[in-house]
Amino acid sequence: MKPKKSLGQHFLTNGASAARIVEAAQIGKEDWVVEIGPGRGALTGFLLAQADRVIAIEIDEKLCDLLAAQFGSQLKLVSEDVRRVNLPALVAPRDKAILVGNLPYHITGALIGQITDARGVWKRAVIAVQREVGQRMIAQPGSKTYGVLSIATQVRCTARRLFDLPPAHFFPAPKVHSSVLMLDFEAPSAYDIADEKRLFGVVRAAFQQRRKMVRNALAHVVDEEILRSAKVDGHARPETISIAGYERICRALATR
Ligand code: SAM
Repeated sequence: MKPKKSLGQHFLTNGASAARIVEAAQIGKEDWVVEIGPGRGALTGFLLAQADRVIAIEIDEKLCDLLAAQFGSQLKLVSEDVRRVNLPALVAPRDKAILVGNLPYHITGALIGQITDARGVWKRAVIAVQREVGQRMIAQPGSKTYGVLSIATQVRCTARRLFDLPPAHFFPAPKVHSSVLMLDFEAPSAYDIADEKRLFGVVRAAFQQRRKMVRNALAHVVDEEILRSAKVDGHARPETISIAGYERICRALATR
C-alpha cells in the first residue's frame, strides 16, 4: 500500500529506533497507552509487548484493517481523525494514560495543542516530531525559535528532547530530521498561570510582531504603567521575554 503524503505518512522502518521510542515511554504492564497514528504498527507491536491496554487512533481505514488483522482484539482501534476525538473522554474513565506517537507531520502543530490541552489525562507523552518543531517546543527566550509553541508547551508540561532520528529511518524518507521528545505532565510545573486564555491572547499578539519592541507589539493591550508594574522592559523584543514576564503582564492587566 502506497504511503499517503496527504496524511503525513512516513513510516518508521528502523526497528531499533521504534524500540527506543517505546522504551523511553517507561510503560508498565498496568498502564493505559494511547497511540496516535499507528500506521503500519511499527511502534504498536512494541507497545503491546509492554502493556495490555493500548488504544490506537488511526484515520486511514485501510491501515486500520491491516492493524486489526495483525493485532486482533489485543489492540483497541479508534478509526477516526484524532482531531475529532475527545481525548479526555477517551482516557478519563481510566487511569492517566501514556501517550506515544510518531505524529503525522502535516498536523503536528494542532496535535501538540490538542495533546497538551488534555494535560490532565496524561502521565507523559513520547512523541516524534520534525526536529524544527521540537526545537520550537523547548526553545528558551532569546532564541530565534522561541515563540507561541514554546510557551504553550512549557506552561502545560516539562518538555525535553530525548534523541534525533535521521530521515533514513523512515519510509518514505522525509526531507527533515525528526526529534523524539518527552513531555512530562506529572513533574511539578515551573509556572503558576492564573488565566491561560489571557496569557495565550497576550503571547499571540506579541509574537505576531516579534521583531518590534514589546511596548509597540502590545500597544493595543498594555501601557507603560502595566509594563512597569510587570517589571518588563518595554524596549525588549517579544522573543526575549520569559514566560514569567508574560505572566506578570497578564496579572498586571487583571488588576485593572
Ligand atoms: N506510527 C507509525 C510509524 O511510526 O511508522 C506511523 C507514523 S506516520 C508519521 C503518521 C500516521 O498518522 C499515519 O499512519 C497516518 O495515517 C496517521 N494520521 C494522519 N492524520 C491523522 C489524523 N488526523 N488522525 C489520526 N491518524 C492520522
